[in-house]
Amino acid sequence: MNSPLARSLQQLKRRLPTGVLRQDSGTLDAHAGDKWFAARTPDAVALPRTTKEVVAILQFAHRHAIPVTARGAGHGYVGGCVPQRGGIALSLARMNRILEINPRDFVAVVEPGVITATLQAKVERLGLFYPPDPASRADCSIGGNIATNAGGPRSVKYGVTRDYVLGIEVVLADGTVARLGGRVHKNKTGFDLHRLFVGSEGLLGVVTEATLKLLPLPPHRAIAAVGFDTMKAACASVRAVFDGGFLPCAVELADEFTLNAARDRTGTRRFDGCRAYLIVELDGQRASVRAEMRELRAILARRRPRTVQVVDGAVACEQIWKVRREFSYALRDTGLTKLNEDVVVPRGAVEKLFALGARLHRRHAIRVACFGHAGDGNIHVNLMLDESQPGVRRRAHAALDELFRGVLALGGAITGEHGIGLAKKPWWNLAVPAPVRRAHARIKRALDPRGILNPGKFV
Ligand SMILES: Cc1cc2nc3c(=O)[nH]c(=O)nc-3n(C[C@H](O)[C@H](O)[C@H](O)COP(=O)(O)OP(=O)(O)OC[C@H]3O[C@@H](n4cnc5c(N)ncnc54)[C@H](O)[C@@H]3O)c2cc1C
Repeated sequence: MNSPLARSLQQLKRRLPTGVLRQDSGTLDAHAGDKWFAARTPDAVALPRTTKEVVAILQFAHRHAIPVTARGAGHGYVGGCVPQRGGIALSLARMNRILEINPRDFVAVVEPGVITATLQAKVERLGLFYPPDPASRADCSIGGNIATNAGGPRSVKYGVTRDYVLGIEVVLADGTVARLGGRVHKNKTGFDLHRLFVGSEGLLGVVTEATLKLLPLPPHRAIAAVGFDTMKAACASVRAVFDGGFLPCAVELADEFTLNAARDRTGTRRFDGCRAYLIVELDGQRASVRAEMRELRAILARRRPRTVQVVDGAVACEQIWKVRREFSYALRDTGLTKLNEDVVVPRGAVEKLFALGARLHRRHAIRVACFGHAGDGNIHVNLMLDESQPGVRRRAHAALDELFRGVLALGGAITGEHGIGLAKKPWWNLAVPAPVRRAHARIKRALDPRGILNPGKFV
């Protein structure tokens, strides 16, 4: 209790409003990890309500070289917000106000702790649309989405979080407040600095406000949900959809293992007998969506699917998405340990990625469940470990290594949307050439010379 760190934290506590800096064991434990496996209890948890408080925390931490790890909702999948070197877990959860929704400028200004689905529901009531839709959107925060450049099913048409961040307020490691970008939909003043912070995983600064681009809400949606006997046929159908000149707002694909798990969790009979399942969603004006869906259905029917179901309208579509969003939890329900890898390959290599998954299963005797955003080539390859088997962790590491090497050989990347965090750190050197790693290190040193922000991660 009398260590220099403990004394510094007591000093900081006295400078902040009551309740902002906490050290009770319940709060510390609740801020040790995310949805991945690693956890490290911080020495203190800061729960600021204002940018001014974040500034005070960072100025102090910078002076005393105390590690600070930003945290949104703790729903990351790579251990990104784990305070690996202890110090302060800086939770933005209480900075959760929507400051403005402006239908004329098509922008929303929000604090980082706003839950993604809350913002989406609010703007949709005004006929506006914030497209980035991670499957965790009911739980994750905008700040976390920005720091991981989160994507989701709609990325295939609408892009990822990066494409909606017009401006940010960020507090740098030494407490300097920088307002970058703005509220205009185009801006070429200087470097694209606000984008540097998108996907920076809390290593470069703490986002305290974001100005987000909104779109008009497409008034109508329809889904073709299609079951196949083989993954090959499903992949060929994805190609046929794009070859037909369609740009769906989602193209999601799942394998048999995932479908069985989803059936067990949700009780749905929708996937019975299917070895692969494809969800294609179209959005736009009602008449054009319906006309396009007729054509799309004909294209898909030519691929000899086992089942085709077309649903029309937001309510019916949401029924399908409700099941889709359960896939991740359904795999967890199997009782096996799930290592979820959000690898991404060029769109044309998706079938090869599924084949790679099957090969891993054969070579390492580990079940592999694959599902995800086929339209982006971003398929979640889940190694499903039976922890009762001897040597399973060693085999899993070898399988992951083979997966990442295979993905890179296909021209892909080791993470499409979850980030590096701790989970992918062992493969950072493999994935990124030395000159690019050095550029990362130089940027990090320039913005955080004492290395206090999220230390122990990939830079
Ligand atoms: C069931 C499930 C499904 C998921 N599906 C998807 C999906 O479809 N697409 C997808 O992209 N992800 C998905 N994820 C992963 C996760 O939800 C995203 O990474 C999300 O962006 C994390 O947000 P969070 O608020 O929970 O961030 P946290 O986990 O709290 O933090 C994530 C990272 O952001 C940093 N950070 C957080 N807030 C700030 C801030 N204000 N300033 C600076 N840095 C900050 C942290 O330091 C950390 O490095 C899923 C996760 C789960 C559990």
